[in-house]
Amino acid sequence: MKLSTQLLIDGQFVTGDGQAEPILNPATGELIASVPEASFEQVNRAVNGAQRAFAQWSRTTPAQRSTLLLRLADAIERHAEEFAALESLNCGKPYLAVLNDELPAVVDCFRFFAGAARCLQGPLAGEYIEGHTSMIRRDPIGVVGSIAPWNYPLMMAAWKMAPVLAAGNTVVLKPSEQTPLTALRLAELASELFPRGVINIVCGRGESVGAPLVEHPLVRMVSLTGDIATGQKILQSAARTMKRTHLELGGKAPVIIFDDADLEAVVAGIRTFGFYNAGQDCTAACRIYAQGKIYDKFVAAMTDAVASIKVGGPREEGVEMGPLISDRQRNRVASFVERAQSSGHVEVTAGGKIRPGNGFFFEPTLIAHARQEDEIVRREVFGPVVSVTRFNDAEQVVQWANDSDYGLASSVWTRDLGLASKVASHLQYGCTWINTHFMLTSEMPHGGMKMSGYGKDLSLYALEDYTVPRHIMVKL
Ligand code: NAD
Repeated sequence: MKLSTQLLIDGQFVTGDGQAEPILNPATGELIASVPEASFEQVNRAVNGAQRAFAQWSRTTPAQRSTLLLRLADAIERHAEEFAALESLNCGKPYLAVLNDELPAVVDCFRFFAGAARCLQGPLAGEYIEGHTSMIRRDPIGVVGSIAPWNYPLMMAAWKMAPVLAAGNTVVLKPSEQTPLTALRLAELASELFPRGVINIVCGRGESVGAPLVEHPLVRMVSLTGDIATGQKILQSAARTMKRTHLELGGKAPVIIFDDADLEAVVAGIRTFGFYNAGQDCTAACRIYAQGKIYDKFVAAMTDAVASIKVGGPREEGVEMGPLISDRQRNRVASFVERAQSSGHVEVTAGGKIRPGNGFFFEPTLIAHARQEDEIVRREVFGPVVSVTRFNDAEQVVQWANDSDYGLASSVWTRDLGLASKVASHLQYGCTWINTHFMLTSEMPHGGMKMSGYGKDLSLYALEDYTVPRHIMVKL
């Protein structure tokens, strides 16, 4: 397998001048590659290149941008197996899950925004003051600095590049220092299609490469998917140059299961949506509230289901869940479980332990009898750990579900669609699923409320986020 370790800066592939970052295989703990990070000067060159490219790129027609985005989608599709192999190597994810779930979504994201670029809508031009015609334009913003996390590296690159480019902006993307490999390969394919400087990829750590990107005066907007604390730092730094920001931060999704829910469907759902990508997902179905009568049956069936999840390396036959991204992340998850256990009232009914041997594996874990005030109910674990809390009635559970710093995703499980709709209307989350969870589609927005951030990924809302509405008035 070909490993690209060079950065794409102003149309040139260059080796980073900064410190070399070791890239590990999370399934074995072994070194895959070393990627030298961008120096301060290289970040500066990337931003300046993107700024120069903006002059031409921002004047291309939607149809021209659309054509290139469609070609990029086709190129990714042609290399789907190679991307899936790289991503599963770098993240430890099951290879077939990347190939069959993530790659089609990545390709579709580019195709969706290729179409969306040509379909932006707005208010009518007209005479809102006598003798004057007003019209609205939606124009690109400039250079966008995009900063991505490690949980879905290629998909996050797609979410961050496709709407930005479709809207006529140029981009400097910084993948996570832990997972740069698919973004660097994407850079190679993109550089054959897009004009010089439109797409730049710089790798490295947050403090040394992310921070100078955010601070650069020519970067007009910063988009981050990451931790709340990182979002706060970026906001503070962006304030100095009054940059626009687009923040997708963490989540702690409440999952509300009423007594009349289809138990089998719920258990199958949480088995998938709570543990997909080893729970390293900001929408993971991790905070269960089960009503009094279904509670015991649910915990029993869910315990068996969680214990049956097949954990292993990316290429193992029938593997459903891989390792965590790093030893550090695994220790963080283990310490959450230890602290939950020390409360005395919870019961770990499945998993709960680090898997011995190589790689950063943690057992899929179910924690029953958790209480609303428990840390395990309130803080994002970002690992394969699901808690269950008993509730009595709809009013109480809506109050508990909303009593959270987070506001990204939620779900309600019941056969009573009236009840589900009422509860959904009272939840303060960017998304509420009814009788499912986790399902995203390019046409619909994904993004949070409260400390989960703001700004939408996917959908026409994302395209709007990366444009600025402008008023043009003509005196007749
Ligand atoms: P992180 O915040 O540590 O890192 C995210 C990115 O920010 C990385 O590229 C990192 O290098 C960069 N960064 C860190 N400090 C920075 C700084 N001071 N200036 C500029 N850049 C900086 O998050 P992570 O550990 O990579 O990812 C996990 C987090 O991301 C979780 O909290 C998860 O919930 C969140 N997440 C959210 C969504 C969403 O859509 N809301 C999706 C995926 C992940």
